[in-house]
Amino acid sequence: MKLRAPCLLLSLLLGACAPGDTGAPTPADVARTLDAPAADSDGVKRVLLYHDMEGLTGQSDPNTFRFSHPERYAVGRTYLTGDVNAVVAGLFDGGADEVHVVDGHGSGNPEPDLLLDELDERAELVSRDEIFDAYVDLTEPGIYDAIAVVGMHAKTGSGGFASHTFTLGIDFVLNGMAVTETEIVGYSWGRVGTPVIFASGDDRLAADLAEPMPWVEVVTVKTATSASSANPRPVDEARAEMREAAARAMANYEDARAMRLSEPVTAQLHAVPPADVSMLEAVPGIEYADQRVTFTGSDFRAAYDGLLGLVTVARGGYASVLSETGRAMAGPAFGASYSDALFERWLDFESGRWSPPEPVLGSRRTFHGFH
Ligand SMILES: [Zn+2]
Repeated sequence: MKLRAPCLLLSLLLGACAPGDTGAPTPADVARTLDAPAADSDGVKRVLLYHDMEGLTGQSDPNTFRFSHPERYAVGRTYLTGDVNAVVAGLFDGGADEVHVVDGHGSGNPEPDLLLDELDERAELVSRDEIFDAYVDLTEPGIYDAIAVVGMHAKTGSGGFASHTFTLGIDFVLNGMAVTETEIVGYSWGRVGTPVIFASGDDRLAADLAEPMPWVEVVTVKTATSASSANPRPVDEARAEMREAAARAMANYEDARAMRLSEPVTAQLHAVPPADVSMLEAVPGIEYADQRVTFTGSDFRAAYDGLLGLVTVARGGYASVLSETGRAMAGPAFGASYSDALFERWLDFESGRWSPPEPVLGSRRTFHGFH
């Protein structure tokens, strides 16, 4: 850690950090570059605010970020709206002209998680008439000057409250660095020179971000005591700090760093329960070892898209929980019914009697981010 400090400082000042200037290069030195933010091109200081729902002030119950638990989720929405309002206010205090808000959570609620009646009127909700990926599909040059992330969680394996990366049991490793979702946002926006300037979440998130993103104003709103429990700070106190830190982050946004992965990008998906990638072990052409699949992508987007493909595979591991649940609910009848259903699908398809069901999202008209 001591060796790393001068290199980190140098990289903050100069953008990149040459391997070898402090002796042995650390992985981060060759894995990425850090640059000054792109110059504002339109005279409007515009900020994009991502909200997640696991790192909220006052929150210690995981069901408060789950749409499938309506009563607790309703409470979570009040936490969320309060936190977003505090940060929106701070960003305007610090000189922002526009703040746009996008859903980085994906609760399954077709409506926004935010309580729109209570949302600061100056905040503008990002909405599109087709499905988009909030991390990568909004990234264009010359629009946003800075990114703020609110209600975030630590990465898989960090011991944070609801800690995970992208979805349950998934760990993303980019150029040798296991990353948080905040870093995924950072690398996506770094492609167009836009820095992440503010983050809020639990103490483990703050620890996760300290080394890779030391310029970010991070507000710790609670202390994780396990993945399913936390000790929240007093809400008013934490939100007052969020507002102040967001204002400071905005006023100093030009000192923040836009981060870019060195290319080509080595990407790895590491699965832990309930996810599983061991089914790929015997597949030729796949670099697999110990629940890790590694590949090379030409750039961040190629790496990200490949990781998402692997997430779909890794979610196949969830089926073991499905069968445990089915057996617990229906006993041995579950196994027999499942076997019959598989046979029926095969015979129906083979007989030309089966066509795939309509996707559930097909009826939706407006999308505010992850869904
Ligand atoms: Zn998340």
